[in-house]
Amino acid sequence: MTYRAPVADIAFALKHASGFAPALAEGLYGDLAEDLVDAVLAEAGRFASDVLAPLNAIGDRHGTPFRDGTVTTPPGWRQAYRDWAAGGWNGLAAPAQWGGQDLPQAVNAPCLEMWNAASMAFGIGPVLTMAGVEALAHHGSDTLKRTYLPKLVSGEWMGTMQLTEPQAGSDVGALRTKAERAGDGTYRISGQKIFITYGEHDFTDNIIHLVLARLPDAPAGTRGLSLFLVPKFAVNPDGSLGPRNDVRAHSVEHKLGIHGSPTCTMVYGDEGGATAFLVGEENRGMACMFTMMNQARLAVGLQGVGIAERATQQALAYARERRQGRAPGAPAGGSSPIIAYPDVKRMLMTMRALTRAARAICYATAVALDRARLSADPATRQAAHERASLLTPAAKAFATDIGCEVASLGIQVHGGMGYVEETGAAQHFRDARIAPIYEGTNGIQAIDLVTRKLPLAEGATVKAYLGELRRILATVDAANDPASAGPAPGWEKPSTAWSGRPNGCRRARSRTKPLPAPRPICGCSPPRRAARSWPRRRWRRRGCRPRQARIRPRASPSPGSSPSISRSRRAASSAP
Ligand SMILES: Cc1cc2nc3c(=O)[nH]c(=O)nc-3n(C[C@H](O)[C@H](O)[C@H](O)COP(=O)(O)OP(=O)(O)OC[C@H]3O[C@@H](n4cnc5c(N)ncnc54)[C@H](O)[C@@H]3O)c2cc1C
Repeated sequence: MTYRAPVADIAFALKHASGFAPALAEGLYGDLAEDLVDAVLAEAGRFASDVLAPLNAIGDRHGTPFRDGTVTTPPGWRQAYRDWAAGGWNGLAAPAQWGGQDLPQAVNAPCLEMWNAASMAFGIGPVLTMAGVEALAHHGSDTLKRTYLPKLVSGEWMGTMQLTEPQAGSDVGALRTKAERAGDGTYRISGQKIFITYGEHDFTDNIIHLVLARLPDAPAGTRGLSLFLVPKFAVNPDGSLGPRNDVRAHSVEHKLGIHGSPTCTMVYGDEGGATAFLVGEENRGMACMFTMMNQARLAVGLQGVGIAERATQQALAYARERRQGRAPGAPAGGSSPIIAYPDVKRMLMTMRALTRAARAICYATAVALDRARLSADPATRQAAHERASLLTPAAKAFATDIGCEVASLGIQVHGGMGYVEETGAAQHFRDARIAPIYEGTNGIQAIDLVTRKLPLAEGATVKAYLGELRRILATVDAANDPASAGPAPGWEKPSTAWSGRPNGCRRARSRTKPLPAPRPICGCSPPRRAARSWPRRRWRRRGCRPRQARIRPRASPSPGSSPSISRSRRAASSAP
């Protein structure tokens, strides 16, 4: 069972459970048309389902063999990445100034969900590049932006985010990687980083590392950290690649899941120090890193949603096929599909409900981020910024926790076939398990929520949010009350495309008013046809007809190994 992107469900959650539709209607997104959003989602769904999803199991089996300092990605992955980048997906929400498409985070978020549902190990690489683009666009010098952003935005180069060291995980302030001023405006980095996602690979010719390090005269703790850009290869003034920098991957981890994502130990300064460029100001690295981390945290939350969706689809398909015993009320003489049993239905409905709740929280966070950037009114921008800050740890922690829970339920629905690797249910569980750990463990998210986010605006931010939720609840209660005349004004009919309907269960006829018909877009084909013929390089806002992509997965798995040294040995050998 592979993944089919639930585009209708996703579009419904985006438009009607996240605040996107009102934002669109009030003009927050300028001339962005709903049809264009539908077309982008449909095309992303197609790429995720047809190209990436079939590569997921191949990545799990093959891993990322490490030999002589190089990493080989699984068969078919490199081509898929290049096709994905050529499709313009990497720059979907990136600034137009640097070659991006400037679409809202609210449109990028569902796409991130789909890439990661199709393959979490694939999806996490671009997540880090996008976060790096955000940090560089906000904090980089003009020269750094001109040199690196166009290629990072196009996906020609990928980025990494490097905080973790053996003694410095959650306690980032304990990190020891050294930065020294070279006297010519550049810096030299030496030290070691561990657990670096896509620290080395063969997708792109250059890799741009964003590295936290400490200057010799810096204060202790997080206040003494600076952020540096360290290219794997120097970049010549004409944009061509120069000599190799003094940074290398030492090894690749063997790990529980996301086997297709190379998790590297990185070594800096074998030959005197890697050439580095300061991003932002000295000793202000954490502020820059937070720009990256907030985006990455939402993206990791979306990984939780994606894996939960995929696990649910798989469990549902299995429950419809697998027959055991005779369910109460079933005709004699045959066996029933296990979906007929209340306990299996309970599990499937729990999976569906948790996934949809997590999706709504993540999309709502993305809409808040858009409002914080795009609203004309400074007070609205500030309120939206606080809303996004409040929701980010909740989105990350809730969505990744339920990712594990749903993947675990998926195994339960499969019974013994879920525990063996053959069905793929076990891979989802193994893959999901990292998401509550990286980008700040969920324990750290809880601390962030309670100590920094709940006190925002002296509690007014969370109170306003709870008030909003209460009003929604009252509307839902009124709509569900048989004695009431019907739904409250403004309440809209749910998606008609609920793909997760348990066997034999008919969805109640909705008493609500229908969704408005899609608005036509000037000069373009009607939305459905447009969506089919729009696998584009660039999503233009009006009257466009992008060219057809020709993308097919390649697959020829071969076994490999990923040698690495133990963490304690690394820690011992890396003392600066
Ligand atoms: C596959 C993978 C990919 C990764 N990719 C990257 C990457 O690209 N870049 C990067 O920089 N890092 C990366 N990491 C590192 C990851 O971010 C860290 O593992 C994570 O931040 C936790 O740090 P730690 O492993 O040292 O755990 P620790 O910090 O030792 O935490 C162990 C436990 O203690 C708890 N804990 C720690 N401190 C506190 C506290 N103050 N209060 C309450 N509880 C606490 C934690 O919540 C956790 O449950 C990756 C890790 C993995 C496994």
